[in-house]
Amino acid sequence: MIEKKKKTNPWQHALQQLDEVAKRIDLEPWIHKKLRHPKRELIVSIPVRMDDGSVEVFTGYRVQHNITLGPAKGGIRYHPDVTLDEMRALAMWMTWKCAVVGFPYGGAKGGVACEPTKLSPQELERLTRRYTSEILGMIGPEKDIPAPDINTNSQVMAWIMDTYSVDRGYSVPGVVTGKPVVLGGSLGREEATGRGVFFTLLNTLKHLDQSIEEKKVVIQGFGKVGSVVAKLLHQEGAKIIAISEVDGGIYNPKGLDPEKVKAHRREAGSVVGFKDAEFITNEELFKLECDILIPAATEEQITEENAPQIKANIIVEAANGPTSPSADRILKSRKIFVVPDILANAGGVTVSYFEWVQAMQGYFWSEREVNLKLRDIMTRAFHRVLDVSLREKVDMRTAALMVAVKRVAEATRLRGLYP
Ligand code: NAD
Repeated sequence: MIEKKKKTNPWQHALQQLDEVAKRIDLEPWIHKKLRHPKRELIVSIPVRMDDGSVEVFTGYRVQHNITLGPAKGGIRYHPDVTLDEMRALAMWMTWKCAVVGFPYGGAKGGVACEPTKLSPQELERLTRRYTSEILGMIGPEKDIPAPDINTNSQVMAWIMDTYSVDRGYSVPGVVTGKPVVLGGSLGREEATGRGVFFTLLNTLKHLDQSIEEKKVVIQGFGKVGSVVAKLLHQEGAKIIAISEVDGGIYNPKGLDPEKVKAHRREAGSVVGFKDAEFITNEELFKLECDILIPAATEEQITEENAPQIKANIIVEAANGPTSPSADRILKSRKIFVVPDILANAGGVTVSYFEWVQAMQGYFWSEREVNLKLRDIMTRAFHRVLDVSLREKVDMRTAALMVAVKRVAEATRLRGLYP
């Protein structure tokens, strides 16, 4: 009998991580307790008139986990699996991510449970605008700043910005990041998360005294993040031997050309069917002989079932929460070097931060400036975490969480408890 893949609740996963780190850093019980609870949560019903005249009602969420260091920051996801607990986990991870890179932000996440591929552009716009109007009181440049995540993009951000601005009566570009450049978006934002993953991998290889050339790389997910990582690694001489998406993957041991795969995906809607490769399933992808594995899709893809079969000796987590807690223990015991999500994919929030700063000042930087600053911040964060990992003899995930939780805890201690 085939055992069904067990998926742990991501919120339980996030809480478990916090509990373990709290013990390790001897966190005061009151701060620990406070951090276990999201600051604010909103669940909204979103009635949308469909193109055929009928009305569908979708459920949307916005969760702010913590706002001690500054306004909440976090993406908006459109996906059938969106739940309150998933939003809570992702919001908590955003708190840690912003803290690990050192930004004046707290963490948030939002989403709508829907299948966006089944919606027309007009339905998607009505859904986005109604969702925005339902969470209007919660967001704002000084309160909570959404950004793109799975199945949302710069166009969705433009609709959010417009809906918010129409309500206020003037243009408020600082309410979202990841918006089109003409509306005050930052150059380099679209590629920022993937580019940050790329810089993190280069930093990892340097630390391990290895070079990128001819390294065999496997990537799960070929969306906004995975496709950019693939392109940059290919340009540096790595061999991308496999790529997968929700409906399956492609494999060529001689290497794939990401630009050609992207062109095929534009036509076919998926990487599947690319002519210079054979079809593989997502399960097979994790068993492939390779040096580097980059999960860039969704949560809990590396599980206790597939973790023992992974051949890579480096994993860079481009996705949020791609590794289950039990899989994480297996990877640790197998001495696989794992760069955790809150560090590896922080490039997105880094350029979002740059975008927010630029929008607030009305003064814009060149793409070169953005990319240089991004590399600098990613490299400093990597070394901050690596130093703790070496000093405390802990894995990179534990070290990153220690850095992040300590920072939020220090701010909480200094601000104290009101009243
Ligand atoms: P996207 O919607 O652009 O792409 C998602 C990709 O994952 C697609 O290729 C899709 O087919 C694939 N996918 C989805 N479910 C899958 C499954 N069950 N199995 C295999 N493949 C699957 O999303 P994105 O923006 O590239 O985000 C990818 C990951 O990176 C997410 O975990 C997201 O939270 C994280 N992330 C994104 C950003 C950003 O700036 N976009 C920033 C930080 C982290």
